[in-house]
Amino acid sequence: MKIAVLGGAGYIGSHTVKELVGRGYEVAVIDNLQTGFIEAVHDGAEFIKGDIRDKEFLRSALIGAGFDAVIHFAACSLVGESVTNPMKYYNNNVGGAISLIEVMIEAGIDKIVFSSTAATYGEPERVPILEDDRTCPTNPYGETKLAMEKMFRWAGEAHGMRFVSLRYFNACGADESGDFGEAHNPESHLVPIILQVPNGKREAISIFGDDYDTKDGTCVRDYIHVTDLADAHTLAVEYLQKGGKSDIFNLGNGVGFTVREVIESARRVTGHAIPEVISPRRPGDPAKLIASSEKARRVLGWNPKHADLDEIVGSAWKWHKSHPEGYKK
Ligand code: UDP
Repeated sequence: MKIAVLGGAGYIGSHTVKELVGRGYEVAVIDNLQTGFIEAVHDGAEFIKGDIRDKEFLRSALIGAGFDAVIHFAACSLVGESVTNPMKYYNNNVGGAISLIEVMIEAGIDKIVFSSTAATYGEPERVPILEDDRTCPTNPYGETKLAMEKMFRWAGEAHGMRFVSLRYFNACGADESGDFGEAHNPESHLVPIILQVPNGKREAISIFGDDYDTKDGTCVRDYIHVTDLADAHTLAVEYLQKGGKSDIFNLGNGVGFTVREVIESARRVTGHAIPEVISPRRPGDPAKLIASSEKARRVLGWNPKHADLDEIVGSAWKWHKSHPEGYKK
């Protein structure tokens, strides 16, 4: 089976490519390297550089190349940036998906797995969140991902394509080899930012709000290991290959940890004191996001294997300690 991985030079994409290559799939990574890194492209995959919004480029990459399916990670994913620069998100995420769907139809590729997000729900009505719960995004990032899901649904009905949308909760951790990991510039995610302190790049971690209605006042999130996400993508492609119908799945561990608990875990794992300071709330942050992933377990046969918080943070530390500058040599 031959799979095009769009955005395969990014964080979750690179881990998924490793998983696919390991399972014997033929893989081509398509990436514009705007936020991805050539060093993150697995040796066992072909690499094609280009931007998915460029339909001529996409045609040259996808038509007649024998792809059975697409896995689509090529999108912008920073909540804060999406609030200050919404049109970048509509252009890249929605615009990229329009171009992709049109070229997939021309190329006769009828299966796609793509990255969605817990941000499609906004402030949840209840936790754990189920896939059928209300979607009311509180930022343009979540809004564009929800628009993409709807586009794939309608395009699927009209053109016979099938899709799986995977709504990730908080992706973190790194490959066990320590060769692939999270590298964003600037970094905005909690785990890599905490680990900048023991890496000597930051004095203290700022906690964004300690007056939420949670057990210690800090926000609760469902942290999921990137290797388990990579596994879910492979299972989703196999599900579509076996004739599975279009569907949406949450991916999380179903367990919530507060920001303080994640900092405590990093102190245990690194042996560093990691000072903390309390800062104002970050706009758009829901108090509590926890997934019900019962559907992914039942339908896809997904079984996350790295749910232990210290294991997740430990794998991230192994990567950041050995790559303090990310993929830069
Ligand atoms: N957070 C924090 N300090 C930071 C970065 C994040 O307190 O320097 C908090 C943030 O407010 C949220 C949680 O950590 O409650 C996870 O944030 P992240 O940006 O990693 O993921 P998100 O939940 O926004 O997708």
